[in-house]
Amino acid sequence: MCLTIAVIGVCAVIVFGLGLAATGCSLSKGTTTSTSTSVAHEPATTTTSESTTTSESQPPSTLKLTTTTTTVALLPGKEYERIPTTEKIVALTFDAAYDPSPLPAIIAALEDGGAKGTFFLTGEFVRDFPKSVAQIIETGFPIGNHSFSHPDFTKLTDAQMRSQLTKTASLITKAGADSPKPLFRPPYGARNKHVLSVLRSAGYVSVYWTIDTLDWETTRTPEQIEKAVLGKLKPGAIVLMHVGSKQTASILPKLIEEIKAQGYSFVTLREALPSSVK
Ligand SMILES: [Zn+2]
Repeated sequence: MCLTIAVIGVCAVIVFGLGLAATGCSLSKGTTTSTSTSVAHEPATTTTSESTTTSESQPPSTLKLTTTTTTVALLPGKEYERIPTTEKIVALTFDAAYDPSPLPAIIAALEDGGAKGTFFLTGEFVRDFPKSVAQIIETGFPIGNHSFSHPDFTKLTDAQMRSQLTKTASLITKAGADSPKPLFRPPYGARNKHVLSVLRSAGYVSVYWTIDTLDWETTRTPEQIEKAVLGKLKPGAIVLMHVGSKQTASILPKLIEEIKAQGYSFVTLREALPSSVK
């Protein structure tokens, strides 16, 4: 318990020291774990319970940003882990870097359920799976930038970061989609103050998440994904899911209905952002 409090204290210092939107714990943890588990594709959150402790232990994330509307000033260079709002809205987000095969089922679930999604694609995904990208574009759901080759941005030079961003943005627009700006999701959730400053100069905002479904884990069951989302549902929640997750594709129709049954509606991140950063 004492240890927990100490950790919380350190996290709070990190948060305020970096000026991040209450993701200091995840920041340091994400950076560390991605180093030790470089083989894993996605952020290696060590355990679900630790993740829960982290998010709940954070200070009110957006004191400066809290509002009752969905159009809050989120300046480039900032990061948000939640849409600052008291409205019962949810943003489902789908990162894509590898297997596109669950995509048709995911899109069907969104459309059939009257839901919306935001997709974060790597440049490699756009290059390798043009038909899948076309399917996403056809839905009208926004596409954000998830880097070119999914590296840990905290280990890149500024030039490498910019290259990752511009190559991917170019591929996305060449595929026929709108510019992904300002939406960027850092691979592995790895970022620091310097990464955010480079993102800002490139016209991007870092999009973190409120709820990590851990759906990239092959042992994760659809029921666990469902429980993770419903257990942490709150106004403005950003849910992290993956296009490559067959479990997510299978649970999504039911999950969308359950979210709606709790009085929530769905938004894309692009519509939840103010016009100043669109
Ligand atoms: Zn990813």
